Amino acid sequence: MEVYVSYERALEIVTSQQFLLPAERVSLFEAYGRVLREDIRADRDDPPVPVSAMDGYGVKSSDVESVPTKLRVKGVIPAGSEEIIEIERGEAVKLFTGSVVPESVETIVPVEWTEERNGYVEIKRSFPEGANVRLPGENYRKGQVLVKEGTVLGAPEVGIAASVGKPYLKVSVKPKIGIVVTGSELLEPWESVESPVQIRNANGYTLYSLVKEAGGEPVYFGIVRDNKEKTLKVLSEALETCDVLLTSGGVSMGDYDFVKDVVKELGVEVLFYKVQVKPGKPVLFGKKGNRFFFGLPGFPVSVFTSFNLFVYPLLMKIQGAAEIFRPRVKGILVEDFKRRKADRTEFVRCSFSYSSEEGKFLVSPLRRQGSGVLSALVERRALMVVPKGVKSLNRGDSVDLILVKGL
Ligand code: AMP
Ligand code: MG
Repeated sequence: MEVYVSYERALEIVTSQQFLLPAERVSLFEAYGRVLREDIRADRDDPPVPVSAMDGYGVKSSDVESVPTKLRVKGVIPAGSEEIIEIERGEAVKLFTGSVVPESVETIVPVEWTEERNGYVEIKRSFPEGANVRLPGENYRKGQVLVKEGTVLGAPEVGIAASVGKPYLKVSVKPKIGIVVTGSELLEPWESVESPVQIRNANGYTLYSLVKEAGGEPVYFGIVRDNKEKTLKVLSEALETCDVLLTSGGVSMGDYDFVKDVVKELGVEVLFYKVQVKPGKPVLFGKKGNRFFFGLPGFPVSVFTSFNLFVYPLLMKIQGAAEIFRPRVKGILVEDFKRRKADRTEFVRCSFSYSSEEGKFLVSPLRRQGSGVLSALVERRALMVVPKGVKSLNRGDSVDLILVKGL
């Protein structure tokens, strides 16, 4: 076990875990948000044949060099029609967006520049050869990899799978993530408060949502009181049935913090305990075979940041994602930032906005930085990284910003 490791070392330990979940086949209706475990290739050229990009008239380009001019309308080719009408000089064929373009058509005049009357069409503007024709393979070529293995499937990727004729996709099995919340002071949101020492369990629900955001299947085990036997019983059940187990609270140095003792009794190999980060110092990470365990702190903001920093990459990695981290961007600090101690990497909760004038993200630290102040994280949020050893930053400095906002 390594104790009080640097942020970088903790990340290295988490991301060097080699376990990969099995893959399964799911229909496109189920594919959104899943991690793709095969390449999606084009089954044919797209478009497969030359098609019209506009509603208009297919003509010979030499016929529309000097305009206005009148051409005889030889026929109509609706989109999806296999009937091909070839044209001679002096003729036009009416086409629609997606209509197959006959070989004899050299250019397409959009309908806005025409007027059809009594079998003739008047062309009011000249168009060069090849205008408004989508050539075969313009979108993609047969055999081309369109979506790479390891991609988290978003809406366009699912649409692409459909367009190449794949009703099913090979994706990672969803990791089962157990959530156990510890604390004798906690109440579920539907329970009534009977004493001022009771507080509501926020973390169970923050974690449940974060797990979903990371593509996992949350399994909620509820609240366990600060009692060693009970904690042992629930954690042992949870660990048997889940790929990753998350606990909140009970992992600090207090007399009632049983999680770290219990974890050892469960046969979990603790890989690190405590990280040089703020917030979220008392994070514990361990494993038992192919199962992983995170003991997260109790403070709601610490839970949120430590999930994003350490749990999220592990969940993405075991699903086979190519990009396992939350996105990072550079931003410009709009005010000075100072802190008393620089012994940890700090993840300062920030709001940010994009300045199109400067082409940059403008970053302002939130006023309320307490670990218990979850309300400060409502709406737009990001974590500004203040490296260990850095005591102050100035207005105008370039900073790293971790975008933790999923929804
Ligand atoms: P602990 O690490 O168990 O000492 O908890 C640290 C602080 O976080 C205490 O003030 C707890 O009351 C608070 N806390 C612990 N668990 C939760 C939870 N599930 N929801 C909201 N606050 C919590
Ligand atoms: Mg506690």
